[in-house]
Amino acid sequence: AFSKLPNVKTTIFTTMGQLALKHKALNLSQGFPNFKPDRSLIELVTKAMEEGYNQYAPMPGLLELRERIAYKMEDLYGRRYNPEKEVTVTVGATQAIFTIITAFIRGGDEVIVIKPAYDCYEPAIEVNGGVVVPIQLCNSDFKINWEEFRSKITSKTKMVIINTPHNPSGTIFSEADMLQLQKSLEGTNIILISDEVYEHIVFDGQLHHSAAKYSDLSQRSFVCGSFGKTFHITGWKVGYCLGPEALMHEFRKVHQFNVFCVDHAVQKALATYLKDPCNYLELGAFYEAKRDFFLSELANSRFKIKPCQGTYFQLLDYSTITTEPDEVFAERLVREYKIASIPISSFNTNKLDNNLLRFCFAKTDATLEKAVAILCTL
Ligand code: PMP
Ligand code: GLN
Repeated sequence: AFSKLPNVKTTIFTTMGQLALKHKALNLSQGFPNFKPDRSLIELVTKAMEEGYNQYAPMPGLLELRERIAYKMEDLYGRRYNPEKEVTVTVGATQAIFTIITAFIRGGDEVIVIKPAYDCYEPAIEVNGGVVVPIQLCNSDFKINWEEFRSKITSKTKMVIINTPHNPSGTIFSEADMLQLQKSLEGTNIILISDEVYEHIVFDGQLHHSAAKYSDLSQRSFVCGSFGKTFHITGWKVGYCLGPEALMHEFRKVHQFNVFCVDHAVQKALATYLKDPCNYLELGAFYEAKRDFFLSELANSRFKIKPCQGTYFQLLDYSTITTEPDEVFAERLVREYKIASIPISSFNTNKLDNNLLRFCFAKTDATLEKAVAILCTL
């Protein structure tokens, strides 16, 4: 009776990671690179520590880093955020998202969540007394039906959460999608969380369409980013969010008592490292090559390959191999075949996508080669 989240289990990423360890399986489940970040970035952290960046950072983040983030946003998406008032550095995108929800959601407020959805959104809504209003992406191509989306909006809708490029499906919102979203929210007070942690991991010459690009949309939006994904440092847990001053003012009221601030030396290092745009602009090509390497050999397997336009995740349809539910099959793959993935029903409410597994390809070519060899024996 004391639990505020009686239905929440340990996250699938922890569960699958532990299972992979136990069975000494190749781990393509939780999304993280199994290679090192740039040596020079590590050296910048050491340097910052030696220079004395060892005490609390400013509450909203090191100003130098906020300025670099604002510069990048203006350069890529044409919107100028005020680094003093509209940018906050957070403990990963996870904290940004949790803090935004906590700052704005009251008991009974409705939040529209697009399913399948990354697993941190819903518990954050529920623990704050909010009500999740799910909308399911189309089962075959993971596109959204905007008419259906509009039908979910009520007088109680306080917030919408989107994620592009999308984990786990690898789809991205097109310009048309973003315009539909902007139009759907016109005339409301709905706040948008745009989870854009994979903004630089977009393939085949496509563009990432940030909520920051659309002036009406950006006025009601928090855009969230993560250095973990962009610089291969998921363990450093540094992200950020951007939003208009009035919204950010409320955000910081919670942020200051939630974490107060983020690792100082790491922020100093990131501020320097961000100065070179090559450090993030080449990421798409880097992961596109990994995707292609992973998929070229898989073409000979019995898995059906779903399109992947972005992120470092690939969905594989196993319906020609077995009729087992995805959780059961994923577990058997770890035990019998020594390879771990994520069953995507864990991102879902209605268990529709029951024949898909998510594989993380942010791995060395040697790991990907081993993974493919295993998957081709199935
Ligand atoms: N959103 C999505 C869609 C993610 O995939 C992740 C990380 N897996 C996060 C947010 C959290 O990012 P961070 O590690 O920076 O907290
Ligand atoms: N975002 C990562 C993924 O989707 C997991 C991060 C986590 O374990 N919380 O795999």
